[in-house]
Amino acid sequence: MNAGKELKEIFFQTKRLITAYEEVGLDPPMLPRNALDFPDSAMLKKTTSPTLERSDPREETARELPEKKPLPPQFGSLEALRTYIGDCQRCGLHKERNNLVFGEGNPDAKLVFVGEGPGFDEDREGRPFVGKSGQLLTRIIENGMGLTRDAVYICNVVKCRPPGNRDPKPDEVTVCLPFLKSQLDIIKPRVICCLGRVACQALFGTDFKITGKRGKWQTYEGIPLMPTFHPAYLLRNDAAKRPVWEDMKKIMQKLGLEVKP
Ligand code: URA
Repeated sequence: MNAGKELKEIFFQTKRLITAYEEVGLDPPMLPRNALDFPDSAMLKKTTSPTLERSDPREETARELPEKKPLPPQFGSLEALRTYIGDCQRCGLHKERNNLVFGEGNPDAKLVFVGEGPGFDEDREGRPFVGKSGQLLTRIIENGMGLTRDAVYICNVVKCRPPGNRDPKPDEVTVCLPFLKSQLDIIKPRVICCLGRVACQALFGTDFKITGKRGKWQTYEGIPLMPTFHPAYLLRNDAAKRPVWEDMKKIMQKLGLEVKP
């Protein structure tokens, strides 16, 4: 068997094993962290012979793999997902991070806030939204909505700080987004609140305009999602605080919380 065929065989056997475990609702044991990742498309291209016979249906599947988008693997718990992410080096952001910021809060939260990515303070502490904009978010949650940070779940699109607090690059979002999607899939909140353009565009595509859609209910995987401004924007624009408060009231109503006039 040549190296390309051997590689494909290993991949199919691994995939079959994982599927077998998933079918009975178990996490695959003792697999390397990246075992569920699709093979690197460049590698597949290099090892796929152009003269492959088409009679083996598994080889047909192999031809299609590089074109398919990887689905986020299924995880039974946030802990299992965190373990799977591990000491992540899947994109360049790991090079300058101090801490990976996975997210925190109630794993059964009815409300999940999604930001864009850790900043300086979050990177230092390994916790989401703990810097200036995080303190504002905490005030919105606690003083405004009458909840606690522990009652909700807070996470970001990318789990490592983009240097200099730049926007995460498209390839960084692509690599990290399945982890956010898995978090939402595990928590299954009743409402998601997307903070700012980057988070909205990660979930809805780059055509999403936060200025036009802020305050208007969207749906993500059947879950009502409220797009609103990022707290960092509120720190620079006092006038944006009122519309954000209106958005929070809509969320509170949706959750059946008392909204004081
Ligand atoms: N901004 C974000 O988008 N996320 C954080 O965790 C902190 C600041």
